[in-house]
Amino acid sequence: MPLLRRSAAAAASGTAGTRAVRDRQNPSAALAWPGRTPAGLWVGIFRTCANPACGYGWLRPWRSHAAPVFESGWCCSEECTKAQVEAAVRREMDAAARARDGYRHRIPLGLAMMEQGWITQKDLRAALGRQRAAGFGRLGEWLVRLEAASEEQVTRALGLQWGCPVLEIESQHPEALSALLPRLLVDAYGALPLRVAAGKILYLGFEDRIDPALALAVERITGLRVEGALVKESRFRSAHARMLEARFPALELIDAASDSILAGALTRILEQTRPVESRLARVHDCLWLRLWLRPQRGPVPELGSIRDVIGSTCMH
Ligand SMILES: [Zn+2]
Repeated sequence: MPLLRRSAAAAASGTAGTRAVRDRQNPSAALAWPGRTPAGLWVGIFRTCANPACGYGWLRPWRSHAAPVFESGWCCSEECTKAQVEAAVRREMDAAARARDGYRHRIPLGLAMMEQGWITQKDLRAALGRQRAAGFGRLGEWLVRLEAASEEQVTRALGLQWGCPVLEIESQHPEALSALLPRLLVDAYGALPLRVAAGKILYLGFEDRIDPALALAVERITGLRVEGALVKESRFRSAHARMLEARFPALELIDAASDSILAGALTRILEQTRPVESRLARVHDCLWLRLWLRPQRGPVPELGSIRDVIGSTCMH
């Protein structure tokens, strides 16, 4: 599937979803984790179907009114689940088209470091020359290799460039955070959940560039406010490798021929799994569906109670 083929390249290729498109138009962006959502409160109470075009209403006594719930709305029938999922898939794909226009340039790293007085123009020229001649490596790496700057300075400059904090990894407990996002996304986009603060804010670490599209998707799915942060390269790599060894939620991959086939497959999973909550968000060229099998007691879900699906289509 595209994600697997292009994983690292996609993360590095100028993600379109910048903070400029932090989407206020997406109705699924609910800043609460399941268990605190209206869906959680309504379990067991007589509900009406979430599909605005529903022809059945609540007159379905044989169907559980607790599940399946998609984006905080109960669906009274498979047809209504399908209508809701199709609308959400369309919404995500339309947002993808809008986000492609939202790319913002950032001040180049070398200039940011020169402005701070950390390197000279001569250092910058030398590092760029070595990078060009070698044909590999990032500018920051070459500045460190040439001893023009320290690794700390490069990371701080990247933080200035991205307008985000630089965080230290104090103590890391991969198992405590691995339920927040699928292993595939942690791996493919180089993300590292660092910590959850006050039950509301998730610090999501990156090595050399924030991935705003991923950060936004994690925010919309988990209900936590996600703050992107940079971590010094040498510390990041070892911590990221440790994180990948942790246990992650069960994941299903779907590669569909069209958006409509993908919506059909997601509908079937919702109907079979009957989650108490589920949410859909786009991450670059794929869609991430998370299903909660029971209400949660805290902001980090219980590993066995969730299921992730990552779907993509040949069209995107
Ligand atoms: Zn209905």
